[in-house]
Amino acid sequence: MSNTVKNLVLIGYGGMGTRHLQRLQSVKEINVKGVYDIKRVKREEAKRAGYRVYSTFENVLLDKDVDIILIATPNDSHKDIAIEALKNDKHVICEKPVTLSVSDFEEVLKVAKKYNKCFMVDQNRRWDENFNMIKKIYNNHAIGDVYEIRNYVQGSRGIPKDWRQLKEKGGGMVYDWCVHLLDRILWLNNDVKLESLYANLSYSLGHNVDDGFEVTLLFENGLKVLLGVGTSNFIKLPEWYMVGSTGTMEIEDFDLNGKYVTLEGELTKDTVPIEAGAGFTKTMAPRNDGSTQEHELPKVNVDVRDFYRNFVNWIDGKEEPIVKNSEVMRTMKVINEIFKSSDNNEVIKF
Ligand code: NAD
Repeated sequence: MSNTVKNLVLIGYGGMGTRHLQRLQSVKEINVKGVYDIKRVKREEAKRAGYRVYSTFENVLLDKDVDIILIATPNDSHKDIAIEALKNDKHVICEKPVTLSVSDFEEVLKVAKKYNKCFMVDQNRRWDENFNMIKKIYNNHAIGDVYEIRNYVQGSRGIPKDWRQLKEKGGGMVYDWCVHLLDRILWLNNDVKLESLYANLSYSLGHNVDDGFEVTLLFENGLKVLLGVGTSNFIKLPEWYMVGSTGTMEIEDFDLNGKYVTLEGELTKDTVPIEAGAGFTKTMAPRNDGSTQEHELPKVNVDVRDFYRNFVNWIDGKEEPIVKNSEVMRTMKVINEIFKSSDNNEVIKF
């Protein structure tokens, strides 16, 4: 049984919406039928780029040939657009964060169930190459049993000067980035209970939304995860840093500079203390030569377009969704606790 090509309309012809359209050009399972944006100037831009443009959202809903609506509008608008689309017999792909609260997401899911439609959130960073390298080493134990992961994304340009600076629009870095970082870590530890978290959001740039955060998560298998985002960091921390019982892995950036180092021998001699600053140390002295080995980052083969293909296969009953709504719900519930922990300076125990 072959799939029929699905007709998709994009809502929101902005930064992410146009990325989706670029990617969809080479996804044969989906035909981009058109675009709608609330701003006339954006609709005109889309027309100039060769897309069929709908003049109102209602016209999209009324078009019986539209199978999928892809929502790429600011965060506060996802819920209403999703509910209208589902009620009008459309399947929905929705940008992250799915909604601004757990109860809003529950409402959306209720409508999806009632109208028997597929609803999937674009957690596209599950397809990042650097994350997949970390995932591979985490799962194959090439650095032993992993007990610490740090994932930091940092820049120095502040928060973009758009709706991301506005609280009522769902701005701030927790909704922007934490949703991605958390989704991946929870996905990696799907069946492991989260025991506690502590979060600290920063407001150092003077907006009423967070311009960065640091979150510590402790899982019941002993794994500790630190997630951090900064928008005022002129020198960046490595993006990924992972420590296991027999090795350490580092990926510096999106350009995939990095390596992992494993223990290959024994410490044969007594450690010789070294001079260090104004003191000396035995603990931090270097290892004996030959007792470790450096490795290149592992090869991974990922293609973010598999997200869209999977969605079509889900609609056609051929595959389970890659991004499950239960996983998104778990992430949204933890996001809720992250705000609470930071507001009250409190460790949250689950
Ligand atoms: P943007 O401001 O560049 O684009 C949003 C567009 O939506 C604008 O053109 C705006 O006119 C339009 N719009 C606003 N309200 C609308 C409405 N009610 N109906 C129709 N159009 C409307 O924003 P962006 O950076 O593209 O972000 C859009 C969404 O994508 C956000 O939810 C964001 O979190 C998400 N996003 C995801 C990723 C990712 O990697 N998954 C990356 C960036 C943004």
